[in-house]
Amino acid sequence: MTDTIRVIPIECKFGKTSAYAYYIDAPEPALIDTGIHSSAEDAIEPVLKEYGIQIEDMKWILLTHGHVDHLGGARAVWEKTGRKAKVVIPKKEAELLRNKNKHLDDYDQLQGKYVDASYQEMHKNILMNDIGEGIEPADEVSDGDTISLGGDVSLTVVETAGHSAGMVSFILNGLEWAFAADAVQMYGGAQGGFPTIEQPALYRKSLNRLFEEIKPKRLFLGHHFLDNNGNASQAQLDGEEVVKALKLSLDMDKKLAAVFKRHLYEGKIEDREGTYGRFTSIAEELEYKGNPNHLPCAFFVTMNGYEEEYIGF
Ligand SMILES: [Zn+2]
Repeated sequence: MTDTIRVIPIECKFGKTSAYAYYIDAPEPALIDTGIHSSAEDAIEPVLKEYGIQIEDMKWILLTHGHVDHLGGARAVWEKTGRKAKVVIPKKEAELLRNKNKHLDDYDQLQGKYVDASYQEMHKNILMNDIGEGIEPADEVSDGDTISLGGDVSLTVVETAGHSAGMVSFILNGLEWAFAADAVQMYGGAQGGFPTIEQPALYRKSLNRLFEEIKPKRLFLGHHFLDNNGNASQAQLDGEEVVKALKLSLDMDKKLAAVFKRHLYEGKIEDREGTYGRFTSIAEELEYKGNPNHLPCAFFVTMNGYEEEYIGF
């Protein structure tokens, strides 16, 4: 078994934020996640070139989940490989790769419920601009599947849903390195200052599974996330840092769940006016001050998730 494999982190920057794609050096080279539509041109191709790697040599494009900042660039990267790379996505999120309009439906079900029509229009335009045209996946993966990158390099698929409905992590076998993207968010994204948790019960379950069963030796994350002191962490974490990141993520869920439950009156969140609608008192207690009209607004998506868990809308 190989004792190390070269992984090249590629920071895809857009607006004030960024998302990481990772190149895995293997007989059949793979790219994990792809940033947004413009990232292929702006970040992935030039960074690989610095390392003497041609983007067209990529054999695999592996997507951890269907969010715009991870999947948006898949089409453009695939085109650059002469449509030869195999594009892989979790089965539960495959429709997001196939059909760009599915992102608009998901938006309507989540953040769209909480912002004014004028912002909805703007957000939808951003989404359509940042996501490439649909592609038919070469493979739709589920928990336990393996992907061979040639030689003795292989990845196992572990479902780590909760951040999104069906997201997966890819585990590099032998080294036990986990490409976990947004399955582990500590205290939230360094830019938005809040974790995005679409389904808290699943998020918690996935974190516990990573912590107790998978025990990754290294984590490759999708963004810079905040620790308990408000400092942005590195996107790559090792050893003890992995354990700490998992614990912090579980702590944050515990804290959010407790605050949410405290704000329930007679089984529901009290209707009130304010910057964050019916979640305004929760935002005040958490001292959350993020822009409610920013895309994405992790706060609304996450509150929607706890509401579904504890109230069952
Ligand atoms: Zn995401």
